[in-house]
Amino acid sequence: MATGRSLVVARPQVAAAIRIPERMGAQLRLVFPSAAPRLFVHEGARQALERKLRIAFPGPVILSITDNRHSIITHRVQKGALHVRVHHMFLDAPSVVVDALVRYVTRGDRDASATLGDHIDDNGFRLARRKRNAPLVSKGKHHDLLDLFEGINERYFGGTVNAVITWGKRPTRKGNTAPRRTIKLGSYSAVDRLIRVHPALDQKWVPRYFVAYIVYHEMLHHVIPGSRGLGRVNLHPPEFKEREKQFRHFERALEWERRRVARLLRS
Ligand SMILES: [Zn+2]
Repeated sequence: MATGRSLVVARPQVAAAIRIPERMGAQLRLVFPSAAPRLFVHEGARQALERKLRIAFPGPVILSITDNRHSIITHRVQKGALHVRVHHMFLDAPSVVVDALVRYVTRGDRDASATLGDHIDDNGFRLARRKRNAPLVSKGKHHDLLDLFEGINERYFGGTVNAVITWGKRPTRKGNTAPRRTIKLGSYSAVDRLIRVHPALDQKWVPRYFVAYIVYHEMLHHVIPGSRGLGRVNLHPPEFKEREKQFRHFERALEWERRRVARLLRS
C-alpha cells in the first residue's frame, strides 16, 4: 500500500493512534471493515485543525479524519489526552463551523452543536454511500492508480483532492467476442467521491502517461462541477477544458487515444 504525505489510511490510524480496550476494538471493527476505502486527506488541513484543538485544550490532542457516515464527530479524553475523530467534511469547513467544532469537543459547548448539525445537514451528500464491502482496488497488474493519483494530486492540485480511486470491475461479456462499440475509460461519482478507471487500461501496452491523463480528467470532475445551462448540464464547461490542457502530456495522450482506441475496444 502506498504511503504519502497526503494519504491517511483510515484503519491503521485507528489502531495506531488510539489505543482502545479490546472490547471497544471489536465494536470499532464493525465500523471499519477490512475493505475500508482509502481516504485521502490533505495532511496540512488535518494539522491545521489539530493545532486549533491543541490551543483550546490543556493537554495532548490526537485528531483522526474519517470517511465514516455513522460517526461524524466522536471525542473522548483518555489519560489526559483528547482523542477526536471527525469526518473529512470539517477539513474545509467555514471558520465559524471549525470554531464550533473546537468548542464542542473541548468544552462540550451545547450551542455549538446547532452550528455543527447544520453543517452536517449541508454536507450529507459527502457521506460515503458506497457499499461497505465493495473493495477499492488501486494496484493493478501494470499500473498503480493510487500512485498516479497522489503524484497528480501533488503536482496539479496542491494535494487538495480528497477522492478515492479504484479500477472498475471487468465487465462480463459472456461469450460476446465482438469488439465493443464504446468504452468508458474513466468515471467520477460525486456522491461517492469515487473515480473508476476501466480495467482495459491496466495493460502493458498502455503507457503510464495515458492512464495518468484519464485519472487527471476524472480528478477535474471532482474539482470543477458541471455547469447548468439550457436545461442540461455541461460536464465539460470551458473552465474544465482549459484546466485539462494544463496536463503535461495532454496532446500526446489524445494522440495515443486516437491511434489506439480500436485496440482498446477489442481488449
Ligand atoms: Zn469527463
